[in-house]
Amino acid sequence: MDFSSIDLTGEQREFWDSVDEFFEVNATEEVYEQERRTGSGYNEALHKALGQRGWITPTWSRERGGAGLDAVSNRILQLEMDRWDVPGITYGTTHLVLGVVEAVGSETLKGVVLPGVASGAVRMCLGYTEPDGGSDLAGVRTRAVRTGSDWTIDGAKMFTTGAHNCQYTMLVARTDPEAPKHRGITIFLVPLDRPGVEIRPIHTVGGERTNAVFYDGVFIDDEYRLGPENQGWQVLASALQAEHGNQEADGLDELNNGMVYAKTLRTLLWHATKWARTPATDGVEPIDDPIVATLLSEIVIDLELMRSAPGSMGRILASERLIQRSAELLDMIGPRAVLSRGARGCVEDGIFEWGHRYAQGTAIYGGTTDIARNVVAQHTLGLPRPPKAG
Ligand SMILES: Cc1cc2nc3c(=O)[nH]c(=O)nc-3n(C[C@H](O)[C@H](O)[C@H](O)COP(=O)(O)OP(=O)(O)OC[C@H]3O[C@@H](n4cnc5c(N)ncnc54)[C@H](O)[C@@H]3O)c2cc1C
Repeated sequence: MDFSSIDLTGEQREFWDSVDEFFEVNATEEVYEQERRTGSGYNEALHKALGQRGWITPTWSRERGGAGLDAVSNRILQLEMDRWDVPGITYGTTHLVLGVVEAVGSETLKGVVLPGVASGAVRMCLGYTEPDGGSDLAGVRTRAVRTGSDWTIDGAKMFTTGAHNCQYTMLVARTDPEAPKHRGITIFLVPLDRPGVEIRPIHTVGGERTNAVFYDGVFIDDEYRLGPENQGWQVLASALQAEHGNQEADGLDELNNGMVYAKTLRTLLWHATKWARTPATDGVEPIDDPIVATLLSEIVIDLELMRSAPGSMGRILASERLIQRSAELLDMIGPRAVLSRGARGCVEDGIFEWGHRYAQGTAIYGGTTDIARNVVAQHTLGLPRPPKAG
């Protein structure tokens, strides 16, 4: 990793200012209030405003609906979106699917999806996990059966986050039940407005909204297939690599996917510092207590570590430090910190209670931290796979 600083051009500095101005105007109180209330990971007005600037697909040319940004300007934009901590789950899942549509989608599909994504009109989510399991992705049971040039889909997906914000889901389906499980899978981009699709909300303990999605005789054309029939595992591999933050983009190291959780820890740190700088009834500021100052300093160091640890290592570190530190902050601040938002006497509008609840789920989604450890062992360290039981 290259830690040297980058000299920005005048144009890049101006761009940075324009990004700040954009978020000053568009990241309104209402955007944050809605997110805290719904946990939806998406704000329609903000997403469309990003689309108008070409900032959903920032490196694409203006003719394609992008903003023609160079790699450094694009990084500035991504870092500012991160710093402003705007709802970005659906933005993120749309990008993960977009990479697959670009790589293996039919021309018809690309003709509709690519411009739609750029403008903000098309959003996409991930339909991997099923009620019977998520880690063993190759064990999917949702069936897609071919009749001529059409497919009929039957099954159920769990935790399809953002389905209620999206037009399409990238669905992993079993298309050859007789083949070894990694070889009988095909990927589809399924329109979520088709008859037979039912989206039911799931509200998690962490305050996020996700969904169960049911597919009952859903009919789609072969145009919606992503990649070759029964070779979905290979198609999925690149999408998972991107989700696990194990790819490079534009010659810059990819921001690891732990950055999503670092945002939450940074928010907690900001509020904890505010609390620590507020004099208590005896006039003493909590920050004068070395225990308080030490914990806050350790969190600052954690944030640096989270930023620097690459790929799946960053994902593990970020989630585990967030879980640990959110609990330590509750201990440090005391009983009022466990009061939820709106409760009389709660601290910083209940942010610490929320942060502790939210932190727990970060060990699960996008693949659990256990699975991330397997990825590090096998793909980063090159260790052999464990022998099969029995
Ligand atoms: C808030 C939230 C949002 C999510 N969003 C999405 C989404 O948008 N799309 C989507 O498809 N999924 C989504 N998921 C699902 C998520 O990816 C799965 O929950 C996750 O992959 C784990 O699958 P599982 O819950 O079925 O647990 P299981 O796979 O049943 O695992 C149970 C436990 O066993 C451990 N385990 C399993 N296999 C191994 C192994 N080989 N080695 C070591 N330990 C193992 C796991 O770490 C876990 O602790 C979301 C989940 C949550 C909670």
